[in-house]
Amino acid sequence: QTKTFHSLRPNVPLPPPSQPLSVTDYTLSLLRQSSAANSSTTFLVDSSTGRQLSYSDFLSQIHSLASSLRRSTSLSKGHVAFVLSPPSLHVPVLYFALLALGVTISPANPIGSDSEVAHQVRLCKPVIAFATSSTSRKLPAVPLGTVLLDSPEFLSMLEGNYTKTDRFHRDQVNQCDSAAILYSSGTTGRVKGVLLTHQNLIALIAGFFQLRPEWDKNETQPKPHPVSLFTLPLFHVFGFFMLVRAVAMGETLVLMERFDFQGMLRAVEKYRVTYMPVSPPLVVMLAKSDLVMKYDLSSLQLLGCGGAPLGMEVAERFAAKFPNVEIVQGYGLTETGGGAARMIEPEECRRHGSVGRLAENMEAKIVDNVTGEALPPGQRGELWLRGPTIMKGYVGDDKATAETLDSEGWLKTGDLCYFDSDGFLFIVDRLKELIKFKAYQVPPAELEHLLLSNPEISDAAVIPYPDEEAGQIPMAFVVRKPGSNLTEAQVIEFIAKQVAPYKKVRRVSFVNAIPKSPAGKILRRELVAAALSAGSPR
Ligand code: AMP
Repeated sequence: QTKTFHSLRPNVPLPPPSQPLSVTDYTLSLLRQSSAANSSTTFLVDSSTGRQLSYSDFLSQIHSLASSLRRSTSLSKGHVAFVLSPPSLHVPVLYFALLALGVTISPANPIGSDSEVAHQVRLCKPVIAFATSSTSRKLPAVPLGTVLLDSPEFLSMLEGNYTKTDRFHRDQVNQCDSAAILYSSGTTGRVKGVLLTHQNLIALIAGFFQLRPEWDKNETQPKPHPVSLFTLPLFHVFGFFMLVRAVAMGETLVLMERFDFQGMLRAVEKYRVTYMPVSPPLVVMLAKSDLVMKYDLSSLQLLGCGGAPLGMEVAERFAAKFPNVEIVQGYGLTETGGGAARMIEPEECRRHGSVGRLAENMEAKIVDNVTGEALPPGQRGELWLRGPTIMKGYVGDDKATAETLDSEGWLKTGDLCYFDSDGFLFIVDRLKELIKFKAYQVPPAELEHLLLSNPEISDAAVIPYPDEEAGQIPMAFVVRKPGSNLTEAQVIEFIAKQVAPYKKVRRVSFVNAIPKSPAGKILRRELVAAALSAGSPR
């Protein structure tokens, strides 16, 4: 019986690892193969302002910005740049310019609390930060200061007097160099910085590009120009790689600075959107809302759904309501640089309940978490993954890296999964601590740490509680100190003041003790079972 699962897709050849190459240069070389590169094809649309950026302007802005930054700051290869901004036309230009210079980008959630941002800055040690006038106040001081993306100075860097032929010194970027630090709490503990190399991202984009459906490769066949609408954040791995993928393909991308459901429907109608990468809560909204009837959504062909589990019932409800829109599922982690499994062929899309097949060049094992044995198809265990998109490690945290990546390069995902005999992957449950509220990561350890800082709380544990709209909500079990009359509302308020809104505790139960193993580990499964038997969702 198979114990190591190999991707069933053709192997995608990658540039030789020793060839110096940045993600920017690689992606733009793919873009040049499409007609978009030399034309006035629209790359970006800001749906809130209607402003647009063509591919030719995008290319010249990358060049201007990279050369301006090189000349006006001492920014160079190996430095880290922290980015704290809502999606805008400037963010993709910034990412590509920094990556071309060999500067590691570290984008974070612009609605993060001050302490969350401070923690991320401590992890990635940036020399420079890019923010907006509304997010910059959250940033601690960094050596080269903060550049505001909505300032006249930044605009002049984009529009600079530099032309394509202008030469400026660029350090050689090697594929093994760091490209991005994204944030994830992994299988346990607090938020960590996930280090992805240029090679990781090149492998990811190569796969998307080589294995794009046949009709996509055949440019002579008439088809609508692909227009995707992003409700995804550009700091999360999903939005980040979908952005780079769109550039490689020369597609048009509609951005939303702030998510609003009706605004999204309006944008689909207005820009004739063909594709939307989404997380499950959006599928729930589309399946349930009557508002969708008010808009012409007939251009929509495909939803690519990932980031959290998509309920079968939701998928079926969506399919009944939108018979002409296909839902393609994908599965991945920040630590895998994004999509580790997905659906490509039409017949794969009909495997409801599965997240598709292993991505190209990827290997997997299903490991019994008691015996450590690799299991055959049909049996459940922890999914381990190995392949060219897997992260280098957690920055400055060798212990967490060693616990997650073994010496042979296997990444322990913390997800309970199985493969069927046709190579389809099914995600059964999460073994790790992570809670996902609307596909956003909520690390329980972080909330537990905050709860324990409350003088009226003697012990606490946070678990995921099922919720139809959000997927999961954080629920706290709290042990009050003797004499305390702390209420549920006070606990909720105490946390809400200190975290980004999606991390709020939304349900509280007071208990006499937190169940723990002899080694002192919180027995989360017992708490989940207790929460579920105690009451129906509110
Ligand atoms: P993140 O690093 O934020 O992308 O979170 C990765 C985790 O999200 C995975 O380990 C899974 O637990 C979960 N996840 C991502 N995609 C899916 C999916 N399609 N179905 C179920 N869970 C998913």
